[in-house]
Amino acid sequence: MDFALSEEQIQIKNMARSFMRDEKSKEKQVENWIKNADKTKKFPVEFMKEAAKLGLLSIDIPEEYGGAGLDRVSALLAFEEIAYVSVPFSLDILVHNSLSAFAINLAGRKDQKEKYLPRMASGEIFGCFANTEPDAGSDAKNIKTRAVKNGNKWLLNGKKRFCTNASASKVAVVFARTSERKAGSPGTTAFLIDIGPRVKGYSLDRLEPKICQAGSTLCEFSLNDYEASDENVLGEVDKGWNVCGGTFEHSRIWIAMQGDSLAQHAHDEIMKYASERTTFGKPVIENQYIAFELAKLKIEIESAKMMAYKAAWQEMTSNPEFAVTASMAKYMGGELAVKATRLACQYAGGISISQESIFSKLYADALAIPIYEGASEIQLAIIAKNMKSRSALT
Ligand SMILES: Cc1cc2nc3c(=O)[nH]c(=O)nc-3n(C[C@H](O)[C@H](O)[C@H](O)COP(=O)(O)OP(=O)(O)OC[C@H]3O[C@@H](n4cnc5c(N)ncnc54)[C@H](O)[C@@H]3O)c2cc1C
Repeated sequence: MDFALSEEQIQIKNMARSFMRDEKSKEKQVENWIKNADKTKKFPVEFMKEAAKLGLLSIDIPEEYGGAGLDRVSALLAFEEIAYVSVPFSLDILVHNSLSAFAINLAGRKDQKEKYLPRMASGEIFGCFANTEPDAGSDAKNIKTRAVKNGNKWLLNGKKRFCTNASASKVAVVFARTSERKAGSPGTTAFLIDIGPRVKGYSLDRLEPKICQAGSTLCEFSLNDYEASDENVLGEVDKGWNVCGGTFEHSRIWIAMQGDSLAQHAHDEIMKYASERTTFGKPVIENQYIAFELAKLKIEIESAKMMAYKAAWQEMTSNPEFAVTASMAKYMGGELAVKATRLACQYAGGISISQESIFSKLYADALAIPIYEGASEIQLAIIAKNMKSRSALT
C-alpha cells in the first residue's frame, strides 16, 4: 500500500489550491467572487469559466472529449482544495462534472458525448442533473415526470425541484417515467436535453431562497409538452435508474470529500481562533477538554478523508466494493461537516453568530451535505443492505 502522492498529483493539488487561495492571482478574484456571491446570490459564471481554463470543469471528462483525463484520486485531490475554500462553488463544479458530465460519459452514445462534453469541458456550457421532484426525493424512483412516446417523438411533462445549476445550464440530464414502477424495474428513463430561456417546453419557475451556500443556485423547473426524440434518450428506455444510481455512486465520493474538507476548514479556523482568544488568563485552546475534543475531531477528519480516497481508489481499480465504501464515506463526510462546524461555533462563542464571522456561515453550508445525493439515513440503508447480503453469503 502506497500513500505517497505522485509528482503529477502534487501539481494538480497545488494548482487547485493556488487557484482557490492565491491572493495575488487576478487581484483576489476568487475571494471577490465568493464575497460577491454572498451579496448577489448569483451563479458565478466568470468563476466557472476561469475554473474551466484550468481543467477544473472537465475532471470527469475523458481527454478524447476535451477533458482533463484525470484519474479518480487526482480529481479528488483537486476537489478537496476547491471545497476547502468554498462549498457552494465546489457544488457548482461537482454538479457540472460528477453528476452531469459523468452521466453523459457513463451512458451516452458517441454522438451525444461529441455534442456536449467538449463544450462542457471548455466552460462554453454548464450542465445539471434533475431527478428530484416535489414528491420524490429520497424515494428517487418515485418520479412523476412523464415521457410519452408518439412515433419517434417523446413528450415530456412534469416538474423538477432542487436542481443545482439549472438557471445557468444549457444541458440537463433529466429523468422521466416511461413505464409503471414494478419490483426490480423503476420504469424511468434518462433524457439528455437542451434547456434555457428560449427552449420550447422548458420553463425555469423559481430559485429556492436558500439560507446557505450562496453562489450555488437551487432551481425548480417545468417541462410542458417538451418535445424530445429518440436521439435524446441517454442510455436505454426504462433503464434510467442505471444512469441515476450509477452516477450517484460515483458522485457520492465527491460529496464525501466536500464534507471532509469543510470539516477541516472549520477545524483550522477554530484552532486559530481558540489559540488567540483568551479567557480566565489563558487561550481557550489551553482548556484540556476543548483541546481533546478538537483532537478527536482531527482524528475523525483524517479517517473520513482516508475513506473517501479509498473509495476513489476502489472506483479507479474497478473494485466492486467501491459503491458501499462511497456510501460510508458520504455518510461520514456529511455528518462530520455538521459536527465540526457546530463545534467550531460553540468554541468560538458568541461571535460565531455574527454575520461577519465565518463560523455560522460554515455551519449553514454544512447543513445540506448530509441531505443531498442520498440523505444520511439512505446511506445507512444502503450500508445495512450490503451487510445483510454479505452475511447471507457466509
Ligand atoms: C442544496 C441542495 C442541492 C440539491 N441538488 C440536487 C440536484 O442537483 N439534482 C437533484 O435531482 N436533486 C438535488 N437535491 C435534492 C436532494 O437530492 C434531496 O433533497 C434528497 O434526496 C432528500 O430528498 P427530500 O429533500 O425530498 O427529503 P425526503 O425524501 O422527504 O426525506 C426527509 C427525511 O426523511 C428521511 N427518510 C426518507 N425516507 C427514509 C427511509 N426510508 N428510511 C429512513 N429515513 C428516511 C430522509 O433521510 C430525510 O432525513 C438537492 C438538495 C439540496 C438541499
